Amino acid sequence: MICKSCSAQIPDNAAVCPYCQTHYAPQAPQAPQAPQAPQGQCGFSNAAPANFLPLAIFTTVCCCVPLGIVSIIKANKANELASKGDFAGAAAAASEAKMWAIIGIIGGFIVGIISFVINFAAGIASEL
Ligand SMILES: [Zn+2]
Repeated sequence: MICKSCSAQIPDNAAVCPYCQTHYAPQAPQAPQAPQAPQGQCGFSNAAPANFLPLAIFTTVCCCVPLGIVSIIKANKANELASKGDFAGAAAAASEAKMWAIIGIIGGFIVGIISFVINFAAGIASEL
């Protein structure tokens, strides 16, 4: 850059002009801020939450329909909010979708075991 005081050619990141000792300290932090802004936006868009819709559909089909439907609604809400740029709301909805899907899978698993035990006991009882 060109020194404002003495018009000498000095390094772009110089804090002090080597010729006239004019200080450029306030400019030093400003220079790296310009490229940081797009990087921050890029990282922000990467913060879009994972899509739990497939997991929600799996829960609905394989495990527990009511909890799976709740999970699908939350996952759709997360995708909708993410498309609007509301990543904080989308992340919250996505975590709810994940929670309901997992509850549905665990609940479906437990119900499956209970129904197996009941059927097994009923089978033994019918043989007695
Ligand atoms: Zn100078």
